[in-house]
Amino acid sequence: MECIFCQIMAGQIPCDRVYADDQVLAFLDIAPITRGHTLVVPKRHWTDLASAPVETAAAMMAAVKKIAPAVLETTGATAFNVGINNGAAAGQIVMHVHFHLIPRRADDGLRSWPHQKYGPGEGAALARQIAATVG
Ligand code: 5GP
Ligand code: ZN
Repeated sequence: MECIFCQIMAGQIPCDRVYADDQVLAFLDIAPITRGHTLVVPKRHWTDLASAPVETAAAMMAAVKKIAPAVLETTGATAFNVGINNGAAAGQIVMHVHFHLIPRRADDGLRSWPHQKYGPGEGAALARQIAATVG
C-alpha cells in the first residue's frame, strides 16, 4: 500500500488522532501551519474531491464542523481556515483527499492570498461560461 493516509488508516503508521467515526478519521498534521492544524480524512481512499462521492464530502464537512469548536477551545485560536489542496498544481502532496483545518488568531502572522482584478465585463463573461458548464 503506497498511500500514506491509507497506511495511517490501517494502523501501519501512527498518528495523533483527534476524532473518528465510521467514515472519517481526523489527526494532527505532522508539520502544522499552526498548533492544532488537523487533517480530516475519509477512511476510504479517494484521490481528490472530484472522485469522492458527495456523501463522503458531506461526512468530511460534518466532521470539520464537529471538530472545529474543540480545536479552537483547546488551542485558544479565535478562527480557522478550512481548505483542500485539490491536485498537484494546488499543492496536493498526499493524493488521498483531505480537509486542512487550520486554527487562526489575529496575531499569527500568516498572510492571505494576493488578489487580482477583472477587466470590464470579464468577470460576468467568465461567470456565464462557468454557469453554462456546471454539470
Ligand atoms: P497536502 O499538501 O497533500 O494537502 O497536505 C498533506 C499534509 O499531510 C501536509 O500538511 C503534511 O504535513 C501532512 N503529512 C504528510 N505525511 C504525514 C504523516 O505521515 N502524518 C501526518 N500526521 N501528517 C502527514
Ligand atoms: Zn489513501
